[in-house]
Amino acid sequence: MTFKRDAIPYLEAQNRLMSQIEELEEERISLYSSKGRVLSRDIVAPFDFPYFRRSGYDGFAITESDDHVYPIDLKVVAEVPCGETYEKTLKPGETVRIMTGAKVPRGADKIIMLEQSKVAEQPGHIRLVNTQPQSNITEIGAEFRFGDVLLKKGEKIGAGAISLLAAFGVTEFDVIKQPKVAIFSTGSELVSPFESLPDGKIYNSNEALLRTLVEEFDCMICMQEALPDDYQLTVQKLTEASQVADLIITTGGVSVGDYDFMADIATQNEVLFNKVQMRPGSPTTAIRFQDTLIIALSGNPGACFTGYHLFALPVLAKLSGKTSPVRQVTGIMAEDYLKNNGYDRFLRGTYTEENGHYYVSLVGSDMSSSLGNLHQATCLFMIPRGQVGKKEGEEVLVWLLSSK
Ligand code: AMP
Ligand code: MG
Repeated sequence: MTFKRDAIPYLEAQNRLMSQIEELEEERISLYSSKGRVLSRDIVAPFDFPYFRRSGYDGFAITESDDHVYPIDLKVVAEVPCGETYEKTLKPGETVRIMTGAKVPRGADKIIMLEQSKVAEQPGHIRLVNTQPQSNITEIGAEFRFGDVLLKKGEKIGAGAISLLAAFGVTEFDVIKQPKVAIFSTGSELVSPFESLPDGKIYNSNEALLRTLVEEFDCMICMQEALPDDYQLTVQKLTEASQVADLIITTGGVSVGDYDFMADIATQNEVLFNKVQMRPGSPTTAIRFQDTLIIALSGNPGACFTGYHLFALPVLAKLSGKTSPVRQVTGIMAEDYLKNNGYDRFLRGTYTEENGHYYVSLVGSDMSSSLGNLHQATCLFMIPRGQVGKKEGEEVLVWLLSSK
């Protein structure tokens, strides 16, 4: 099938995608399932923290009236390990042996460290030989007051946040829904890496790449299938996926070949774009298919990798309420790259950071079919179209990747 393709700049393609989607709604989640999720509301402290006066040291709790002349011998009236309480009020002349983190008894105003105590002559007593100016008591609400914001809306939950919520007994809260992603790799040549390889076929590496990248970004894979080049079957699978997925990512079949059915399917649906002024991946296509967004990436592994980071990842970030983990900076060419091109060329590279400058160089091959550098690339950088490449020392746009 022949049809018109208008190549648009990559920025325009990104804008068209982003205008199609919104942050997902919220859902309630339990604490231990929340890693990587994004808060849809502020979470406030349900009580003062600490909610009782806590001892900062192993030592002896004393009253204010005994805190004057040292050494002083005091009667040890109780021992308060962590988690226990002394229910009476501490009186002058008395002390309580107390452990770090234990509740300080009423009437006590200072903790004398264990190191500043000695055995007293009188049985049941302790000699406190020295003191320091601070009370060594963490007062109620010292860290958080009831109602203080613990975590802000938009914060991504990690180990620190999970522990903070656990400390307050918050075990259920609201987060933005996790994007559900369907991944289809198209191509009759594809074979699962777990099967034997018939002549002329190739192993499906894009599926492995995409599923790992999507999971790494804490999104849920709701469907993952390799499809032969079959128009009807592909439409059927996309229809199924569109019932459940927030985003469908396909690879392969978007060029102009006889078996490039994703390109044909695009013509039957609302096309956001079907060509981008970039290499690799110029046939990258985006479609609204039965109300679900499809990003159809080229099957070449290098193009699939680049297209995922430039187009799919920003979409997933917006759906999940996150900022994209790909940071765009201005970098400096560490070496020449002098090929010219009619389109912007995105190279897989590595970078080093020196005094705030990012020096970038090509890693491995610049071919769209090459996949040996995907595990090495720590950035993408762009050689703008129409120029005779870029020389060492010249500035380029760089996208720092969070994974490799
Ligand atoms: P296509 O985009 O379908 O024209 O494919 C372009 C090139 O990428 C062809 O050489 C395909 O065999 C290869 N290719 C397509 N899909 C995959 C995949 N899932 N894994 C590895 N290579 C692929
Ligand atoms: Mg193909």
